[in-house]
Amino acid sequence: MSDSHVLDLAGLGAGPFNLSIAALADSHLPRLATRFFERRRDPSWHPGLMLPDTHLQTGFLKDLVTAVAPDSRHSFLSYLVEHRRLYRFLNAELGTVSRAEFSDYLGWTARRLDNVALGEAVRDVQLDGRGFRLRTDAGDYRARHLCLGTGKRPWLPDFAEALRSPHCLHAAEIARTRRDFNKRRVVVVGGVQSGADIFLNALRGHWGQPRELHWISRRRNFEPLDETAFTNEYFTPDYTRSFHALHREIREREVAAQKLASDGITPAALQTLYRELYHRFDVLGERRWARLFPHREAIALERSGLGFTLTTTHGLTGGRERFNADVVVFATGFCSHLPDCLADLAPRLERDAHGELMLGPHFEVSWDGPTTHRIYAVNAGRHSHGIAEPQLSLMAWRSATILNHVAGHQAFDLHEDDGPIEWHPTSEPRWVQAI
Ligand SMILES: Cc1cc2nc3c(=O)[nH]c(=O)nc-3n(C[C@H](O)[C@H](O)[C@H](O)COP(=O)(O)OP(=O)(O)OC[C@H]3O[C@@H](n4cnc5c(N)ncnc54)[C@H](O)[C@@H]3O)c2cc1C
Repeated sequence: MSDSHVLDLAGLGAGPFNLSIAALADSHLPRLATRFFERRRDPSWHPGLMLPDTHLQTGFLKDLVTAVAPDSRHSFLSYLVEHRRLYRFLNAELGTVSRAEFSDYLGWTARRLDNVALGEAVRDVQLDGRGFRLRTDAGDYRARHLCLGTGKRPWLPDFAEALRSPHCLHAAEIARTRRDFNKRRVVVVGGVQSGADIFLNALRGHWGQPRELHWISRRRNFEPLDETAFTNEYFTPDYTRSFHALHREIREREVAAQKLASDGITPAALQTLYRELYHRFDVLGERRWARLFPHREAIALERSGLGFTLTTTHGLTGGRERFNADVVVFATGFCSHLPDCLADLAPRLERDAHGELMLGPHFEVSWDGPTTHRIYAVNAGRHSHGIAEPQLSLMAWRSATILNHVAGHQAFDLHEDDGPIEWHPTSEPRWVQAI
């Protein structure tokens, strides 16, 4: 392959995060040779969790491009206009966009981008003297730089992993096949958004009428996402940049303290749930077949006849409880992992004590390869860039940061004016000038 066919940037995966880079490269850096490989032929956004009445936790202006390029033709507003429903969208006065609509927007964008290759998984990546060599389902490519965007992997506790089956599953699989909860005892483990979405749908009989429905959470209560203004300042470029400059231990401490800014249930979802419970069990007087169990940590799962017994410990007393179930759904989140195609390069990437990739300010991974060939990573920097990293909120800004770095010039103006919050101390005395 001649050098004129070398990609400047090859993306592994085209979920929203890499798709955002692809969209911005397409509209603002057409001379940069980029290609993003997505194994799904039909792009869809977390299809295994696509349930009725589920919504974005993020405002729709935080789409693939708007925050850095509101003139891009790949914005959510362009999508609405092209689908001729902008006025009806506005009239609907939606607090948040449904996940179904956002997924459709992502698919619409992916299909119209020439630099996104759908149905083309990356099978292998090697490095030689001339840069990266990628083998995909459709051919071989060379690239100067890579961007890893293959997402996270569903995480199950070890004790559940051993019993994984159609009746002991991770939340991420729930919508993949038809399920029958009719007359079954169903336990949902995990008290954040996907647990809430599954509990609400089970309560509404989406999979049939369960005999019992129990929702278990390790948290003290079913806690709301903090969506208030000052908390949302964590989701700004300014905060993220300054966060990256902190020491590792301080970053860890801060991220832990900010948990509810990103890992909670939207107040709207909690309200819907509470009203549904009130109406069904208090107003209509149904037998109380659905119950919530906060402050319980699931610690063991055993087979019991055709079903399971789940053991929990209580956060206040340490007391053990046992829950019999025919179906157990673990809404226990996601963990970092590198795709198999990177097996040869993986040992060369620098990790911290927790096994997370070490990222520089431009989301470049520290590694022992040549500086002329960089590996960027998205959705990999909660520990390095803060709680906004796994979220949609700053994806356009992060994409522009990466593209500026790849291009070697400021294709996107990312300069921000000062906000009202002074996050860091200064050694200079603070003073007010007399008028
Ligand atoms: C159900 C759910 C709802 C969420 N809702 C919100 C929300 O409302 N607001 C918010 O801020 N955040 C939300 N998040 C968090 C985050 O924004 C999403 O997880 C987001 O999808 C992350 O994007 P990604 O591109 O990193 O990964 P993914 O969306 O997982 O995409 C990765 C892509 O890589 C592809 N891929 C994997 N391996 C290969 C390979 N070898 N070759 C080619 N392609 C490959 C996959 O097919 C996939 O399409 C949500 C997360 C989940 C799970």
